Amino acid sequence: MSIQLNNVTVSYRHSPAIHHIDANFNSNEMWAIVGPNGAGKSTLLKAIMGLVKTDSGNIYWNNLHRADIAYLPQQSDIDRSQPINVFELAAMGLWYEIGFFKAVSYPLQQRVHAVLEQVGLNNFINHPIAQLSNGQFQRVLLARMLVQNAQVLLLDEPFNAVDASTTAALLSIIKDYHHRQQCTVITVLHDYEQVQAYFPNTLLLAREIVAGGATSQVMTKHHLQQAMTRMQQQEQNQWCKR
Ligand code: ADP
Ligand code: MG
Repeated sequence: MSIQLNNVTVSYRHSPAIHHIDANFNSNEMWAIVGPNGAGKSTLLKAIMGLVKTDSGNIYWNNLHRADIAYLPQQSDIDRSQPINVFELAAMGLWYEIGFFKAVSYPLQQRVHAVLEQVGLNNFINHPIAQLSNGQFQRVLLARMLVQNAQVLLLDEPFNAVDASTTAALLSIIKDYHHRQQCTVITVLHDYEQVQAYFPNTLLLAREIVAGGATSQVMTKHHLQQAMTRMQQQEQNQWCKR
C-alpha cells in the first residue's frame, strides 16, 4: 500500500501552487509536511485526495480505495451549529462501511464508544457539538477519522486553536493508532518540536520540494533557510520556468 506522486504540478489561475513534486508515502510511515505559509501544503493534501486538478504528473493510490483514506481538511468542513451530538459526529466515520441511512449496529456502536474513550470523550457522548471547546471538537474530529479504520490518515494542521495539553494527547493517540494499524500518517504541522518528536519523516515544501526524507536530515537550518528563500524568489516570479 502506498501513495505515489510523480512530477505533480497544481496551479490556481495559471500560477503554480505546487510544482514538480515527487514523493512516496508508504505503509507504516509517519510523515510531517512543513513549509512557510502559502508553500502548497494544503494543496498537496487536496491533490492526493483528488480535490484539485493536477496540471501535469500522476498520483497513484496503490492498493488503496477511498474508504481506506481518512482526511481532515485545514478548515473543518463541519458546521458546528448542526444539532448533532458527539457520538453522531464520530459515527460519521462509519459512512464508508454502512452509508448514511443505515442504523449503526451494536458492534459498530461499540467501536465508536471505544474510540471516543481513546480520545478522552467518554463523558461527552451525548453532548451537542455546539457546546464543545475547540480542543474537544478536535478530539471528536480525530475520533471520526479513527472510527473509519483507515489505512491512511491525512491531517491538515489539526492542532490549530488547540491548547498544548490537548495537542500532546492527540499526537500520542495518533502515534498509538499508527503503531496498532501500521498505517500511513501524513500531517501538515507548524511546530518543529512536534515534528521532531513524533514524525520520523518530513517533507519540506516551498511550492517545490526543498527536502524530503528522515526528519533529522530534512529539518536543518540550511534547508529551512532555503525554503524561505525559495518562497521569496517564487513570489517575485510566479511562473515556473521548468
Ligand atoms: P499552505 O497550505 O502551505 O499555506 P496552500 O496550499 O493553501 O498553502 O496554498 C498555496 C498557494 O496557492 C498560495 O499562494 C495560495 O494563495 C494559493 N491558493 C490556495 N488555494 C487557492 C484557491 N482556491 N484559489 C487560488 N489560489 C489558491
Ligand atoms: Mg494550508
